[in-house]
Amino acid sequence: MRSHRVAVIPGDGIGLEVIEAGKKVLEALAQKSGDFTFQFEDFDWSSQRYLEKGEYIPEGGLEKLAKFDAIYFGAVGSQDVPDHVSLWELRLAICQGFDQYANVRPARVLPGVNSRLKGAEEIDWVIVRENSEGEYSGNGGRVHQGHAEEVGTEVSVFTRKGIERIHRFAFELAQSRPCKKLTLVTKSNAQRHGMVLWDEVFFEVAKEFPDVDIDRELVDAVTTRMVLKPETMDVIVATNLHADILSDLAAALSGSLGIAPTANLNPEKTFPSMFEPIHGSAFDIAGKGIANPVGSFWTAAMLLDHLGETTASERLMAAIERLTASGLQTKDLGGSATTRDVTQAICSDIEQQ
Ligand code: NAD
Ligand code: MN
Repeated sequence: MRSHRVAVIPGDGIGLEVIEAGKKVLEALAQKSGDFTFQFEDFDWSSQRYLEKGEYIPEGGLEKLAKFDAIYFGAVGSQDVPDHVSLWELRLAICQGFDQYANVRPARVLPGVNSRLKGAEEIDWVIVRENSEGEYSGNGGRVHQGHAEEVGTEVSVFTRKGIERIHRFAFELAQSRPCKKLTLVTKSNAQRHGMVLWDEVFFEVAKEFPDVDIDRELVDAVTTRMVLKPETMDVIVATNLHADILSDLAAALSGSLGIAPTANLNPEKTFPSMFEPIHGSAFDIAGKGIANPVGSFWTAAMLLDHLGETTASERLMAAIERLTASGLQTKDLGGSATTRDVTQAICSDIEQQ
């Protein structure tokens, strides 16, 4: 019997609701399989903890987390804590602490889900986001704070090493997919240092992957291409900021922010990788029991893949597709089902397979 140790960090808001739902689904899959089990350990690292104790992650917390096979994360963000504090103290502390430099965000329209975009059924993208440096390096500062002449800087840092490893990761991913296409997204017309380096390194790495069909876009232009010609793209590689924005657009185009998953990978497996739905803590619906848990289920499928449980992952994706096709949908997709309804439906589908 294989056993997987998974650290669970539900975080804030609907993170608590969708991760509880996702754990039930993972348990149902383990039961169905009979070949593996999960050892979940819950961590209360949240904004509530920060407000009570002044810290998200306790002393020695990352060292403890490092021993797990994977991390299942909900969302972080509270109306009582500035967003830059919650993000940097919890989510980014883990991503950066564990060198999870490849952020992978698949987007496609699941059966039965209505997109507002004409031709959206053609969407089948994976956005690869550089997750360790660039615009989110935390490099900058403020001088003359509060004065009329105040200046704030936010300096993007791009290293050849950081660029090369994300490009290589994106090429390998593109190579593993049927149409083997990779689109490079930068802004190297206006930003002529770090972005030009991104372009140059991309074309160097491309030489190692002659079977991958490549093209490039500026980040502003690619937004129109995503809307007008979604079928022309497959894997997209972009910087931390650019891919952050593009993947929210991709999630909305493919139906709802409530569906989209993310993996924050440390591809070398020196440290655990972290899996989370793309959405945040959603203050407007938190505590109402109506959050769409499908994003956390799809995330769970990515987590299973990472653990080598590919059969269970495929079983879960098939169950998710039957669920969305059945029309049992939460409010964000135009339905009236609750988080619990959707979770029960998917668990009984898994049991009956
Ligand atoms: P959000 O993703 O929380 O919500 C945006 C909108 O989408 C809201 O209307 C919300 O109700 C809806 N939505 C999101 N997920 C949904 C789901 N599963 N089911 C149904 N509807 C869903 O983004 P926001 O409002 O910009 O941010 C709220 C807080 O979350 C902020 O504190 C922000 O910093 C944080 N945040 C955290 C993460 C993360 O932890 N990875 C990501 C984004 C935002
Ligand atoms: Mn984002």
